Amino acid sequence: TAKQLTNLHSGIEDTLVILGYKLRHSNIQVVQELDAQLPLVPVQAGAINQVWTNLIDNAIDAMGTNGSGILRITTSHTGNQVQVAITDNGPGIPDDIAAKIFEPFFTTKAVGKGTGLGLDIAHNIVHQHKGRLQVQSQPGNTTFTVTLPLSNEPQ
Ligand code: ADP
Ligand code: MG
Repeated sequence: TAKQLTNLHSGIEDTLVILGYKLRHSNIQVVQELDAQLPLVPVQAGAINQVWTNLIDNAIDAMGTNGSGILRITTSHTGNQVQVAITDNGPGIPDDIAAKIFEPFFTTKAVGKGTGLGLDIAHNIVHQHKGRLQVQSQPGNTTFTVTLPLSNEPQ
């Protein structure tokens, strides 16, 4: 499929609607810090929306249902790339598993709750767009950052 210039904010909004039931069920507060000048980005919109779904779904799972969860979505741009950061205040990713989370079928969730494919798929989609998917985590604060190039030329 060809890439089309896309407003990432609308795909993020659609994802929050799709995951709305789960967000409300988990009493999670959503905070968006959106770059009002965010440029259109050349992406396969359907695929990129799968990235937001997989990352936000994991964030919700990590925060649980105790009502203290805060999901923060931050967008920003520079001259040649955009960033979308998805932050949760869940327990964080322990050092001993951090190296494995992008591997297909790696999951810490109960049988039937996780396939272990979400991050593998997200990573592959971001790479197909010549972007990067990075994670920073400490107890109480985990951020997955997607960086996407604004042009299809080599960066
Ligand atoms: P699944 O969600 O099916 O387990 P994923 O590939 O989406 O598979 O994630 C793999 C694992 O990475 C999860 O089981 C979890 O251990 C860890 N993980 C992913 N996102 C987070 C997060 N935001 N906070 C803590 N751990 C996470
Ligand atoms: Mg997942």
